[in-house]
Amino acid sequence: MAAIIPIPALSDNYVWLVREGQGAAVVDPGDAAPVQAYLEREGLTLTAIAITHHHWDHVNGIAALVERFSVPVYGPAREAIPHRTHAVAEGDAFAFGDTGVELSVLDVPGHTAGQVAYVGSADGRRLTFTGDTLFTCGCGKLFEGTPAQMVASLSKLAALPGDTRVYCGHEYTLSNLRFARAVEPGNKALVERQAREQAKRDRGLPTVPSRMDEELATNPFLRAAEPTVFEAAQARAGRPLANEVDAFATLREWKNAFR
Ligand SMILES: [Zn+2]
Repeated sequence: MAAIIPIPALSDNYVWLVREGQGAAVVDPGDAAPVQAYLEREGLTLTAIAITHHHWDHVNGIAALVERFSVPVYGPAREAIPHRTHAVAEGDAFAFGDTGVELSVLDVPGHTAGQVAYVGSADGRRLTFTGDTLFTCGCGKLFEGTPAQMVASLSKLAALPGDTRVYCGHEYTLSNLRFARAVEPGNKALVERQAREQAKRDRGLPTVPSRMDEELATNPFLRAAEPTVFEAAQARAGRPLANEVDAFATLREWKNAFR
């Protein structure tokens, strides 16, 4: 049975570790120390690293890990990733170390210009590693891309089956939920999700992963074309909005200013 373990790193990052037998593989090691501590404690050998994008809090642990373990490092072809051995882009697929998990690649630019997401399944359970593109109940800031790019990227992820587990790069769910409720105060699924996720945090548990169907029901950035969300964006903008991309751009700016 492959297990997927959250390794908290830095202030609010998750390094995702897939383990199977005595082997392990990690996604986005922003810090090597907590990964090495876990590997040593569990007696595991690292067999692969996959990277979603070039930001320091996703790549800074690579150097120390590849010094210790000679492993393939998969990363987006259109970004500079330290120690990358395999440049990947949409359409590529690879075995993720010896975990038995096969990952395929989606190009999801927006947060960064060349970001990728990984899609696969572990023991028949569908999953996606979304980096800083799709967050639980939110999405990444547009540091290098346009709203139209991000809407297209999020649409690719939203098209995955509803039971796909969403493993993102940060624990941002509660603050994302506060924003989502400001956008859609009448969404009952949001009220229920907020209670559920708050209970997890109160017990010190991660709120990640979520499920894609849960995101479709509650994540305002996947719901920009829904009438309630579109109208809220229009009210915020104070002018008629032409389309989903305009509504998404308004939501993203609203969230940037939201406290
Ligand atoms: Zn980032």
